Amino acid sequence: MEVLQVAQLGNDVLRCKAQPINNISDQNLGRIIDNLIATVIETNGVGIAAPQVSISDRLFIMASRPNLRYPNAPKMEPTAMINPRLISHSEDRVKDWEGCLSVPGIRGLVSRYRVINVEYTNREGKLERQELTDFMARIFQHEYDHLEGIVFLDRVESTTDLMTEDEYQKQILQLKN
Ligand code: ZN
Repeated sequence: MEVLQVAQLGNDVLRCKAQPINNISDQNLGRIIDNLIATVIETNGVGIAAPQVSISDRLFIMASRPNLRYPNAPKMEPTAMINPRLISHSEDRVKDWEGCLSVPGIRGLVSRYRVINVEYTNREGKLERQELTDFMARIFQHEYDHLEGIVFLDRVESTTDLMTEDEYQKQILQLKN
C-alpha cells in the first residue's frame, strides 16, 4: 500500500465532476482503494475521495475513527463506496465544523442533512443500501461533494463561520472534551 499525494485547493481536479466506474473487477481499482485507505489513515482523515488524489472517478472511502484531527469521531471499518448515490434525506439539517485534507489549516461550519439514505457498490461488487446519521451522514455528504467538484468552503454561509485549525483545536475541541 502506498500513501498518495493529496491535491490541494486550487488544483483543477477538485473542481471536476468525477466519472462513473464501470469495471468493478478491474485489479487497478482494488489497488487504488487500498492506497486511498492508507492515505486517509496516514493523514488523520475520516474520509477521502478519489479526486483528492487526482483520480477523477466516482469513489470514496469513509474511515471514521477517533484521531488527532477528529478525537470524537465514531469508529468504523474503512469502507470503499463506488458510484455512491444519495437516495433520500431528512428535512432537518445540522451545522457542524468540517475540515478537508485538500484545504489544510481551515475549518468551517457547514449545514448538512442529519439523516440520509444512500446506495453504493462495495469493493466486492455488491450493491449496498444504508441509512447514515449525524457524523457519518456528514462524512458521506462531504465526500460526495468532492465527486461533484464541490468543496466544503462552497457551503460555508459566511466567512465568520471559518476558523484556523489552531483556533479550532483550542476553542471547539476543548469545549467538547
Ligand atoms: Zn474533503
